[in-house]
Amino acid sequence: MMKVAVLGLGTMGAGMAGQLLDKGFAVTVWNRSAGKAQNLVDRGAKLAATPADAASGAEIVVAMVADDRASHDAWLGPNGALAAMDRGAIAIESSTVTVDWIKTLAARAGSLGVELLDGPVSGSKLQANSGNLRFLVGGAPSIVERARPALEAMGSEILSCGPTGSGALLKLINNYMCGVQIASLAESLALAERSGLDIDITARVLTEGAPGSPMVKTLARRMIDRDYAPNFVPALMAKDLRYAAGALAGHGIVSALANAAGERFLKAVNAGYAEADMASVVEPLRLGDAHGAKNAE
Ligand code: NAP
Repeated sequence: MMKVAVLGLGTMGAGMAGQLLDKGFAVTVWNRSAGKAQNLVDRGAKLAATPADAASGAEIVVAMVADDRASHDAWLGPNGALAAMDRGAIAIESSTVTVDWIKTLAARAGSLGVELLDGPVSGSKLQANSGNLRFLVGGAPSIVERARPALEAMGSEILSCGPTGSGALLKLINNYMCGVQIASLAESLALAERSGLDIDITARVLTEGAPGSPMVKTLARRMIDRDYAPNFVPALMAKDLRYAAGALAGHGIVSALANAAGERFLKAVNAGYAEADMASVVEPLRLGDAHGAKNAE
């Protein structure tokens, strides 16, 4: 039975750890706030007090935490996982983080004899809970093959994207496009509502016509129904857009779009939707930007 540790039991990490358990892996879990582990412990996971305790003796350690800072804390902070790992064990960073951070982490892992893969995912809560994520993996193909059994327990598609950092970069590109679409959808629906257009006809045109990507189809329904049960919180999308803007700038592309879309998600956070789904990005727009500006004064 392969021993796998999962660091971070938020929306995504909890589902991923659950899939590993369901498929017979010996799973140790750690989360910064311990309460979130109880359900997994009830299902057979071992609870570790620190990332180092979780990582000790594991063949594979997967991190699924918020951002670069959280990833740093989990791998390299006090009682961090990396230094506790066996030589030759595999660290998989599945959080959506920057390419620069992945490269720093890979160098630290290399100096400790640990193999590092960047393995961010596309898909959301539903796919995490059902083992249907798509992994965008960066790193040596031979290491991807060794990690494959665990990756396949959590995902239905494992894409080897290229050298270290390729998965992280492709994930930022992916979420850049998602974030810009969602922000423009929110502005569009708010415009339709504020101008008195029929919202059902509007939704039909937007979701069944040319703009109707899978993301637009899903988010339009949630925005119209005000269904904000959290799948992906707005602060994380703002973070992804900030990281994407940085990646674009690093390659000579100044993205007004990434920055403007990111601002929309931050406005939702500041308007009280920090714990809600990112579909709540439409709420401040329902009031109009003038109202938001007035409130901010
Ligand atoms: P989430 O539910 O907000 O959970 C965030 C996790 O990060 C929690 O376990 C949290 O611990 C932990 N964390 C935050 N700061 C930390 C720190 N300084 N040290 C250690 N742990 C810290 O987020 P999520 O939706 O699962 O997303 C996790 C990652 O996957 C993010 O990078 C996100 O961008 C990416 N992602 C999300 C989705 C999605 O649809 N949700 C899809 C694809 C990728 P506490 O419980 O203690 O706060």
